[in-house]
Amino acid sequence: MSDCTFCDIVAGRAHGHVVYSDEYVVAFLDISPITSGHTLVVPRRHSSGLADLDPAIGGKIFAAGQRIAAAMRVGAVAADGVNLAMNDGRAASQTVFHSHLHVIPRHSGDKASFAKGLLTRRARDLDSVAAGLRAAIETVP
Ligand SMILES: [Zn+2]
Repeated sequence: MSDCTFCDIVAGRAHGHVVYSDEYVVAFLDISPITSGHTLVVPRRHSSGLADLDPAIGGKIFAAGQRIAAAMRVGAVAADGVNLAMNDGRAASQTVFHSHLHVIPRHSGDKASFAKGLLTRRARDLDSVAAGLRAAIETVP
């Protein structure tokens, strides 16, 4: 184990519910999701935040986020919308200092559960959510 949980997931030393990976990024379910299907896209190569993130890799992270967002709309997650967010720095609520893009599925009228999720962030059935999302990612370009 390293001192970075996300590097451990990328390297396979720690378990993550991986839904997508390529040469540059790995995407896995947030273990404390705001909504079911909440996914994190991280660069394979460690960077702690925007200041040390190669902009070209930032583009790869965003592109993966777009594809996952598309999968959330067509697949089992059946999202009506998606929030993409990157928290940079402790003042911006970054809690894991390995750059990551949040991909958060939203449903029409879910404001109450979204707000509740921000407070409670409780995981539900990550295995089946991950399986549904992996299947949907295969269907979108
Ligand atoms: Zn790391």
